[in-house]
Amino acid sequence: MNCKDCQSVLLDLLLDPGAPSNAAGRSHVESCAKCNQEFKSLEATFALLDTWEAPEPSPYFDQKLAVRLREEQAMPPADWFERLKSRLLFNTGRQFRPALVGALALILLVGGGTFANLSGIGRSRPQTSATVQDLQLLDKNDQALQAMDQLLLDAGSADDTPPSS
Ligand SMILES: [Zn+2]
Repeated sequence: MNCKDCQSVLLDLLLDPGAPSNAAGRSHVESCAKCNQEFKSLEATFALLDTWEAPEPSPYFDQKLAVRLREEQAMPPADWFERLKSRLLFNTGRQFRPALVGALALILLVGGGTFANLSGIGRSRPQTSATVQDLQLLDKNDQALQAMDQLLLDAGSADDTPPSS
């Protein structure tokens, strides 16, 4: 067995050192200083992971979630722009989506917050807490980033198509 093959069986060897199928890997690790070192560091990493404990959620997580849910439930339906956006994004045929996503990303890029603020005029949403507003802002940023990803993906696949001549 060479070092390259040994790399791929190191994990098996660590998890089940006594298995007959790992005999070749075990003898290589014992004879090769480089792979032995690799095996030792892997072993140390796993030992460390065994001591790791998942952190407890913050004490008020459930309460905060419940407040957020109640506020969302109390809200009137989203304004026309939100409804149009979700309709275009999720209800139209697959072939139109890249163009629509591109157009929406362009609106977000060019208009920035201005457009969103304009479309928000006349909306009578109840006042929400600062925390919820922050979360909604994060959510909007996330949507914009997803739209950008889709745009880049489409641009990339368009470049890959071979010339038709
Ligand atoms: Zn080796």
